[in-house]
Amino acid sequence: MTRARVLLLNAALGPLDYRVPREMTVEPGSIVLAPLGPRQLAGVVWEPERMPSDAEVGDNRLRNLVGVYEIPPLKDSLRRLIEWTANYYLAPPAAVLRMALASASALEGGRTVVEYRATTHIPDRLTPQRAQALERIGDRQGLVRELATIAGVSEGVIRGLVKAGAIEAVEIHIDDPFAAPDPDHAPPKLSTEQRAAAEALGAAVAARKFAPILLDGVTGSGKTEVYFEAVAQALREGRQTLVLLPEIALTEPFLRRFEARFGVLPVAWHSDLRQSQRRRAWRAITTGEAKVVVGARSALFLPYGDLGLIVVDEAHETSFKQEDGVLYHARDVAVMRAQFEGLPVVLASATPAIETRQMVEIGKYRELKLPARHGGATMPDIKAIDLLADPPPRGRWLAPSLVAAMEETLAKREQSLLFLNRRGFAPLTLCRHCGHRFQCPNCTAWMVEHRLLNRLLCHHCGHNMPQPHACPECGEEDALVACGPGVERIADEVAELFPEARVVQVTSDTIWSPARAAEFVGRMEAGEIDIVVGTQLVTKGYHFPNLTLVGVVDADLGLQGGDLRAAERSFQQIAQVAGRAGRGAKPGHVLVQTRETAAPVIQALVGGDAAGFYAAETQSRREANAPPFGRFAAIIVSSEKLDEAVETARAIGRGAPQVEGMHVLGPAPAPLAMLRGRHRQRLLVHARRALDVQDVIRGWLGALEWPRGVRVAVDVDPYSFL
Ligand code: ADP
Ligand code: ZN
Repeated sequence: MTRARVLLLNAALGPLDYRVPREMTVEPGSIVLAPLGPRQLAGVVWEPERMPSDAEVGDNRLRNLVGVYEIPPLKDSLRRLIEWTANYYLAPPAAVLRMALASASALEGGRTVVEYRATTHIPDRLTPQRAQALERIGDRQGLVRELATIAGVSEGVIRGLVKAGAIEAVEIHIDDPFAAPDPDHAPPKLSTEQRAAAEALGAAVAARKFAPILLDGVTGSGKTEVYFEAVAQALREGRQTLVLLPEIALTEPFLRRFEARFGVLPVAWHSDLRQSQRRRAWRAITTGEAKVVVGARSALFLPYGDLGLIVVDEAHETSFKQEDGVLYHARDVAVMRAQFEGLPVVLASATPAIETRQMVEIGKYRELKLPARHGGATMPDIKAIDLLADPPPRGRWLAPSLVAAMEETLAKREQSLLFLNRRGFAPLTLCRHCGHRFQCPNCTAWMVEHRLLNRLLCHHCGHNMPQPHACPECGEEDALVACGPGVERIADEVAELFPEARVVQVTSDTIWSPARAAEFVGRMEAGEIDIVVGTQLVTKGYHFPNLTLVGVVDADLGLQGGDLRAAERSFQQIAQVAGRAGRGAKPGHVLVQTRETAAPVIQALVGGDAAGFYAAETQSRREANAPPFGRFAAIIVSSEKLDEAVETARAIGRGAPQVEGMHVLGPAPAPLAMLRGRHRQRLLVHARRALDVQDVIRGWLGALEWPRGVRVAVDVDPYSFL
């Protein structure tokens, strides 16, 4: 090969051609360093026929590649996945490639890095800023830059502390091997049903063929124990497993459970890793030495050396859909990866997505069922509380019957969980005197009061302001009222009702790292918590045997602003949080507060009729030709200038091609008409399933131009309709 096409790690660039110097050998997949203007950039050699370039350059004008990294080339299967993802989600291939090469520093050689950590020495000059930095750093370790971020100070402050001897350098060996999990360390005694499912999974791993499998088991049925047997099989064959989790907060409990079963920790991959950890993990993943990798979405594109199994846990979770950058759905891409690599992929869920059920229905996915909880634990009984008949007292949010149940639970020294999917104290602050409402200046959204922070916060862009005392509109003091509850407000109410109870809030404000999640789990298990008030963060994964009461504060919340999946999502969320109750020997009770006891979601939950609910939902999707029977793609046009956004959206609407089986809705202002200071217009493309809608959109948008400040994003199979 004397000429090579290279996909560079720069999403703004198409592939470029280079000359391969005589002493260098490359092949498709080789990771190379290439010159670009005065700079050098990493990239991957690609088959030219698969990566057309519109800037063909003659041989004599090619620049030489600078070098090849001593890293195994990206495999064919991964390159096909990158192409597929870019093509399906209409994303630049380089943006997808970047997720595979995730750690630029990992490409460099060097077996040690220098990190810093606090010593016990207190510097002579301990300014408040230095004191704060040392306190926040605690026993954490990292690069100067990482410590500065943790401490919320400049790098200069950290360097000053190094000089003063309060922080010291430590050398880290990044190529230290990871210990291998032992498949026979502590296998559980499986029930007959569990064993049957585990054996089927083990056989699928041994078969080394593409096999998509839905592991459909009620909450607490032992899905994790069962898929661990598939992991054990992959380990026996010396192959790697990737386990995808929907939330990094779930990583820590998972790590500990894995360690109990396999004797050592798996390799974690998530955004909270330090650079050195990331680099060590990435390298071990490419060599195949990292046998089991557990991670969030971003672990999906890594260049596994010898992948044998993919597990997507809580596969119904919508957080697998990435909502910025490359807009992909990790569950769907996981299935594609399994297909390109020829291996089994297990989607584990107690409340599978309708899309997934439909694949089972038409025979594309195999289904393994675990219909009962492990060890004789019974499913919790679910009752609705009719808020119209049994309303909370004025200014309160918990109905008397829920409060009574909490009291009983406390008396039995058991734990309760209240679920409300809303962070902060109150979603809206308004002036009683003039009616002024606090809105984000950058977004079509109310400012949410966060009493813990004593600030109002926009949940979309992060804009925040101190808690106001007077109305900015009419100047009236003490006229501002908080409207509606968030988790903080419910926690206040609980504290007033049960002053002696130990209450914690679990939201992304309080549990922002795996370590915080671990702390929470530890305190729950040790019985140091009586009542948890939390958002969707507490709905999944956790197993607390002494948790026997779950209260859903507002079951109607999820049904508002109804997009196509609102009912399904609401059902899943409540079924999942209900599934936290009574997982041990003691039976669980679930009370669901609602104003709409007759709604199908509530009826299905109370009547335990998941199958009926799914059937009805599926039928209405079929009739509406909605996913999975038809498909959607959203086109979101945004600009800081309203007229530009509107004009461009209209031009796109006018340019819509006439295609059989496709129609275009809009343009119209998006429900979030303004986001981060940008005006947003939406078009929704609705097409029959078999249509190559990406190809249509590519041709359609490719023929148009728009002003520089306008962004046009395509969201294929959208989950958010905001
Ligand atoms: P799911 O993921 O289906 O909600 P889990 O795998 O978390 O269920 O299992 C629920 C609880 O039951 C966990 O504490 C798990 O360790 C335990 N468990 C499940 N199956 C077994 C088994 N065969 N032997 C011992 N414990 C089990
Ligand atoms: Zn905002």
